[in-house]
Amino acid sequence: MPTSRYATPPIPFATEKRWTNWGGNQSCSPAFTVRPRNEQEVLDVVRFAIREGLPVRAAGAGHSFTPIVQTGGVLIDTEALTGVTGVDTETHRVRMLGGTRLTDLGDVLWDKGLSLANQGDIDKQAIAGAVATGTHGSGIRLGSLSSTVRWVRLVTGHGEIVEIGEDNLRELHAAQVAIGTLGVIVELELQAVPRYHLAEQITYPSWQETVSGWQENIANHRHYSFIWCPHNESAALYELPTPADTSMVDRCYTKRYQAIQLSEPDQIVTAEGARRDRAYRVYAGGFMIPFHEMEYYVPAEKGQDAVTAVRDLLLHQHTDQRYPLEVRWVKGDEGFISPFYRRDTTVLSVSGAPGTDYWPYLRDMDALLEDFDARPHWGKIHFLTPDRVRRIYPEYDAFVSVRRRYDPNGVFLNDSLRRLFG
Ligand SMILES: Cc1cc2nc3c(=O)[nH]c(=O)nc-3n(C[C@H](O)[C@H](O)[C@H](O)COP(=O)(O)OP(=O)(O)OC[C@H]3O[C@@H](n4cnc5c(N)ncnc54)[C@H](O)[C@@H]3O)c2cc1C
Repeated sequence: MPTSRYATPPIPFATEKRWTNWGGNQSCSPAFTVRPRNEQEVLDVVRFAIREGLPVRAAGAGHSFTPIVQTGGVLIDTEALTGVTGVDTETHRVRMLGGTRLTDLGDVLWDKGLSLANQGDIDKQAIAGAVATGTHGSGIRLGSLSSTVRWVRLVTGHGEIVEIGEDNLRELHAAQVAIGTLGVIVELELQAVPRYHLAEQITYPSWQETVSGWQENIANHRHYSFIWCPHNESAALYELPTPADTSMVDRCYTKRYQAIQLSEPDQIVTAEGARRDRAYRVYAGGFMIPFHEMEYYVPAEKGQDAVTAVRDLLLHQHTDQRYPLEVRWVKGDEGFISPFYRRDTTVLSVSGAPGTDYWPYLRDMDALLEDFDARPHWGKIHFLTPDRVRRIYPEYDAFVSVRRRYDPNGVFLNDSLRRLFG
């Protein structure tokens, strides 16, 4: 698309700058890439795009594996829209700008006596990017980050600033997980909790031991998750430390976290695998070796059968696949297109190695889990068709009607999102 056809954006921009995601499996060359520093600049640039007939997408930290950031129009890099804008220590509510990275929240909230209720495997995402896809950690009594969203302030496809809060639950439930299709979230409010410390316990049980302790582990820990390894080298692909004298074949790397009271600094323990520290420091993390991940969610009551079936798939059919199977739990919520909509969930995630043909494996995984009423992570590889989205999300029509109200001309849609939500 020749950039010269368009007027000049109202804020500094780059042209034809290539955007690529963390995993290296998604990229695009937007006509204009901009990095607004405040809400007014977001508003100005969205209005510019509307005038010029250009589509708009926002980018967080680029940690999604699906085509949900791509645009040939205006890409809004949200990196400069960062910072906590308000804390209510009575209600434990926190406001922040949409580009704020999770890793930048920990210290600020702790100093105010607060923590996020739960976090995922890494803390590199932008908060608006994380909630856009329903990002979660593990814990059957703990919802996703999106489920804690109580208010958003966004620039819509009308080029206006709109606030959505608890006085309009229908629209709030549409906004909690919206994959950026209602507009650019400039600010949002989350329900946090009083700050807490965590004690970490990492163990390496066999598959049989994991099965025996299934319900007890889910019920009796604040966070419980495991990573089942089909091969000896599987754990290393997720950079997991393992004991030198134990084969990891058909064995799990298991994480258990409990909230504890401890006094700082003398009772802090930083030894990997047995940490006792502030919650956000225990959650902190990232990965250095890229992978291409697929993550599906099944009702928790079907979780054990689904995990057993995927283990069988890896042991008997796709024996060449080396990446492990990660298993987690998430509490149900009310987001219209949240994968956890009204159901407590078991999470199954697998990965393919970049540069290899992992598609037959992922397609078999998709077909297998469809029989367990699976819903996919919006930010991880999936095979959803418009019909299937409609079938698995009872509030699909309500979501699309809110989306159309906020963005009737599809300014915030790209090809992939138009197909599913146009
Ligand atoms: C190594 C790794 C580990 C991960 N671990 C987990 C995990 O433990 N749990 C889990 O659930 N997921 C996990 N994910 C997935 C990840 O959390 C999600 O894909 C998340 O959406 C990425 O956030 P981001 O800031 O990178 O957003 P991006 O990928 O950049 O964007 C995601 C979506 O948000 C939209 N968006 C971004 N900013 C805004 C804004 N300001 N307004 C409106 N829309 C916006 C984008 O347009 C896009 O549609 C992991 C991913 C990786 C690569």
